[in-house]
Amino acid sequence: MTRPGFTDCLERVRENPDAAQEDLVFLLNNESPKEDALLFAAAADVRDRYCGARMVLRGLVEFSSYCGNTCHYCGLNRANGKAERYRLTPDEMVESARLVWDAGIHTIVLQAGEDGMPAETLADVISRIKSEHDMAITLSVGERPRADYARWKDAGADRYLLRVETTDPALYASLHDGRTVETRLACLDTLQELGYQTGSGFMVGPPGQTLDIIAQDIRFLAQREYDMIGIGPFIPHPETPLAHAKTGDLKLTLRTVALIRLTSRNAWLPATTALGSLDQDYRVDALRAGANVVMPNFSPADVKKKYEIYPGKRCVTEQTGACAGCMAGLALAAGLELDYSRADSLKRVPV
Ligand code: SAH
Repeated sequence: MTRPGFTDCLERVRENPDAAQEDLVFLLNNESPKEDALLFAAAADVRDRYCGARMVLRGLVEFSSYCGNTCHYCGLNRANGKAERYRLTPDEMVESARLVWDAGIHTIVLQAGEDGMPAETLADVISRIKSEHDMAITLSVGERPRADYARWKDAGADRYLLRVETTDPALYASLHDGRTVETRLACLDTLQELGYQTGSGFMVGPPGQTLDIIAQDIRFLAQREYDMIGIGPFIPHPETPLAHAKTGDLKLTLRTVALIRLTSRNAWLPATTALGSLDQDYRVDALRAGANVVMPNFSPADVKKKYEIYPGKRCVTEQTGACAGCMAGLALAAGLELDYSRADSLKRVPV
């Protein structure tokens, strides 16, 4: 069964990506498998039309679990004395990039906690990788001064992922000690100004998040024209202040993915590792609801489980890069073609 007005509402959002707040809340707020099926099919259709029916691969390397921040949701936060900390050497990072390249993947995502690594060290790694391979480099190392972002861009970085986490100032403040959404937004603006292909996003389900806030954040992400948008469920980590909070709802996460697809149309949208780390792997469900990116983990085998932003992270025991078969299976199950290309922004010409 669908609710009265559902079909019209879905049609409005599909036709006009500048969707009304109340339409988004209406579509988020349903309990009906029939409505979900229609929403997810509409999102998959928009994905196929604007991006092609393909699933692109990005090789993920988590190069440091040190972090100076105290984000209440994250297992790497510096107050977690039980977290195992590691930092890859520049040589190890370059070697990881080689493994990504050897697997035929043309993008590497270098992610870390806010570990205070000198800008010059990372710039050297970027130049070395760029001199060896014609691959796109994506950074995801949090908030840094403009000069650092500029230095890394000059060294050859192409893209940057920085989830806004939420645009709601009160929710933002409740999840982050002493930090403001203004700073987060200023960093995102700087990244776009510097010409980075910029990714953002948020978790679904941290305490205090409402459907209204989700709808507002969906609208924000569409208006800013981000090139990539990551959405995953919040998963409580036992060594954080949110240890006893509830896990983000799977269906609500998938609806959010679908609505991001309808409103941000040609953005790259990962089926996130968090969605693969619940009671089972739901990444194929995200691909069926409009997602089109998967990020296999290429961190060295001995550090994978130490990058524990949330518990139960999938694929921490596999050998590095032993993902090709699994990737083909996901793409097949979602009816998508596997794409190993750089898959640059579909929104802007890379600079
Ligand atoms: N230090 C970098 C990378 C953070 S980890 C930065 O600040 O951008 C990448 C993302 O994982 C975060 O942006 C957050 O949205 C998500 N994340 C962190 N803890 C999580 C948890 N407990 N459950 C689900 N997602 C989480």
